[in-house]
Amino acid sequence: MNASAGTPATHDGFDVARVRAEFPLLARTVHDGKPLVYLDNANTAQKPRCVIEAVDRFYRERNANVARAVHALSEEATDLYEGARTALARFINAPSAQELVLTSGTTMATNLVAYSYLLPRLEPGDSVLTTRMEHHANIVPWQLVCERRGARLKAAALEANGELRVDEFIALLTPEVKLACVAHVSNVLGTVNPVREIAAACRKRGIPLLVDGSQAVPHMPVDVRALGCDFYAFTGHKMCGPTGTGGLWARRELLADMPPFFGGGEMIREVRIEGSTFADPPARFEAGTPNIAGFVGLAAAVAFLESLDMQRIAAREQVLLDYATARLQEVPGLRILGSAAHKAAVISFLVEGAHAHDLATLLDLEGVAVRSGHHCAHPLMQFYGVPATCRASFSFYNTEAEADVLVAALRKARKLLV
Ligand code: PLP
Repeated sequence: MNASAGTPATHDGFDVARVRAEFPLLARTVHDGKPLVYLDNANTAQKPRCVIEAVDRFYRERNANVARAVHALSEEATDLYEGARTALARFINAPSAQELVLTSGTTMATNLVAYSYLLPRLEPGDSVLTTRMEHHANIVPWQLVCERRGARLKAAALEANGELRVDEFIALLTPEVKLACVAHVSNVLGTVNPVREIAAACRKRGIPLLVDGSQAVPHMPVDVRALGCDFYAFTGHKMCGPTGTGGLWARRELLADMPPFFGGGEMIREVRIEGSTFADPPARFEAGTPNIAGFVGLAAAVAFLESLDMQRIAAREQVLLDYATARLQEVPGLRILGSAAHKAAVISFLVEGAHAHDLATLLDLEGVAVRSGHHCAHPLMQFYGVPATCRASFSFYNTEAEADVLVAALRKARKLLV
């Protein structure tokens, strides 16, 4: 029996059964017929049929390289690729599609900012400000360029409940800070950071702000204009799109002033052996053949999310978060890390006397896929003094029944481990 059975098809006006039917993988079983309960959405999301079919159709009917040849197929492929840029720009309300660099994901986006924006501006004694809750993709690139320039990385602390100490973050925005960076939503705690407030404080001090939107874009309406940040990075595979896709939105004037990070085909104006001149953004930052089929799939994912309505997705996931949190709190010895007032449907937890990896292994045997480990957030684990947590991360296609399966599996695992 699928875990969606036994629950009403419609939740808060959101037809979960119909939505689930769009995701072929959700129907599969694991470990001798256990229905899959996929709660690892913060890691990567499953793909709806329309995304799978868009990629398939591209390779069957449209495959060609972009922006190079004059033949019909190449023009069609170019139109699809640029159409994805337009769709993504609209999705995050960017002022112009030309301000959106298509990347392989958030990691490539933060590295692009590190090497192309930050490195040329950093001097000894400068610093970059981040927080203790960041993914390594929003820590390590800054460290690498800081090391080259004799600059340093600073990190604002958190409250015990996983909220950012915003006052401390703002107090650390001192004149030597050349870039401030913050997650829109924490991938471990689910904390939704007050980006508008932070952006206003940065703007007042003339410090550009990069927002890591990896865990926000798939789960809530995002409006980069309203947020008031300067760079916004996101990744396609967490928003039901293919892996190896994502983007960096940046203000036009910042992009215009950034030298290329990668060199190669399609990012140039003219190449002579003595030296080259470069294309305008965003092409300047998109050297080489991009993941064309991936972006065709990501455009389909955007259309799918838009058809469901991001506002309704966010509301549905809040209902799931509240339900799952209450049910998990019934499990003896279970502690949830992260109880911010504004929180996305990501629940990190520990069970007293059980190691996170052992728990996740036993949950897997019951068909429940959660992630265990440090979640690419070592400094956050150090803050809580734990080596690892289990993380159940929900998407709009999950159900209350699946949260029940998680809780039952946890009770069973606890009996074996504790
Ligand atoms: N930032 C956050 C908050 C994430 O959750 C992730 C992925 O787990 C990343 C950055 C890195 O994304 P990607 O591996 O797609 O580049």
